[in-house]
Amino acid sequence: MFDKILIANRGEIALRILRACKELGIATVAVHSTADANAMSVRLADESVCIGPPLVRESYLNIPALIAACEITGADAVHPGYGFLSENANFADVLAEHRIAFIGPKAEHIRLMGDKIEAKRTALRLGIPCVPGSEGGIADPAEALRVAGEIGFPVLIKAAAGGGGRGMKIARSAKDLTYAVQTAQTEAKAAFGDDTVYIEKYLEKPRHIEIQVIGDGRGNAVHLGERDCSLQRRHQTVWEESPSPVLDSAARNRIGEIVANAMREIAYEGVGTVEFLYENGQFYFIEMNTRIQVEHPVTEMITGIDLVIEQIRVAAGSPLSVTQEDIHFNGHAVECRINAEHPQTFRPSPGQISYFHTPGGLGVRVDSAAYQGYTIPPHYDSLVGKLIVHGRNRTECLMRLRRAIDEFVVDGIDTTLPLFRNLVRNPDIQDGMYDIHWLENHLKTGGIEPE
Ligand code: ADP
Repeated sequence: MFDKILIANRGEIALRILRACKELGIATVAVHSTADANAMSVRLADESVCIGPPLVRESYLNIPALIAACEITGADAVHPGYGFLSENANFADVLAEHRIAFIGPKAEHIRLMGDKIEAKRTALRLGIPCVPGSEGGIADPAEALRVAGEIGFPVLIKAAAGGGGRGMKIARSAKDLTYAVQTAQTEAKAAFGDDTVYIEKYLEKPRHIEIQVIGDGRGNAVHLGERDCSLQRRHQTVWEESPSPVLDSAARNRIGEIVANAMREIAYEGVGTVEFLYENGQFYFIEMNTRIQVEHPVTEMITGIDLVIEQIRVAAGSPLSVTQEDIHFNGHAVECRINAEHPQTFRPSPGQISYFHTPGGLGVRVDSAAYQGYTIPPHYDSLVGKLIVHGRNRTECLMRLRRAIDEFVVDGIDTTLPLFRNLVRNPDIQDGMYDIHWLENHLKTGGIEPE
């Protein structure tokens, strides 16, 4: 096992990783920018190192500063969390050169899945169903037109290096296509420095359902069921739940086994999420994330498995602590991502939290690094915390969630809490009847008032 883990992240995920390390008896190093000197993870870690100014490329993305922090403190492993360097294969390589473990998959798997075209090719080879589309990148609008002719409009142009919903354009007819290809290329070049784009059938009313996996790097892998992440705004999920209201256990086991087998075949190491769109009873692979995800707690709540602890164990060379037969799904869990944003305009609302009260009681979990008097810096994402609620079934879970949201108080800044108070009372949400466009349509007509 590792002696000392450096946590190359901030906010709630830094605290989440720190908690896992403490339970395992592993010493911790928190790193922080000058804007995060007062972070909870800095206060609670055994040691901390300032790695640079607020700008992420000079701090949380600054590989030489992170390596120096490992060497100063003698850390023998780095946990990258999510975002930042978590899917940067070059970082994993540099750490390996310095004989420091990267808590994540092998660099070759990060590279493979980071290129969405390669990821799709690999998925097809491994028997994972994919969205119909081009086999590789498309060179020009003429090729796009030929592929669109085969799969039919509407189509979606996507960036090979994509992430965060950027570089994605819909074309509903041949006359939109040239413009869609060109704007997707320009956006992809600006965001990722790579203008390779590909084309996919645009699904009109899918749900976003993803499968959690974990492998030991030696050919053992298990799936931990799904998360339904269909409630999205600008392709970013705001509410995640497990199990999905539309899957039964036969469908879950079928897709879960396909994914787990694929991971066994490539000897995947660590945690990963295979994302699908789901429409008319069919799954269509869209991408794989090779890291822990923001929404991992819903899976932990229904399986009882600590994913970060498992992740650290397999990175240290231990076998998986569970087999597929050991994994049981108990009850229902929902996560709400509470952001420091105006609930109607979604304008970021950094600043000082003057009063902070988190809910408690049976089945209620809050993953947050915020506290009363904490100032949310303007430089980073606006996540204040995640409220995760578990119940024996979906009805009990929503009943408890309604009560827990009403108990949550964050004063001094705007938050999206009113959005969740509204959603948990909505009949479509209560019935589980929503697709990936539901939330944006609801927001157009919903009229959610700030507090
Ligand atoms: P990113 O890496 O940028 O987040 P994804 O491939 O994960 O991109 O897609 C993000 C979201 O975009 C999905 O959750 C879904 O809402 C939408 N999307 C992606 N592909 C399609 C598609 N073929 N048809 C319809 N919507 C799609």
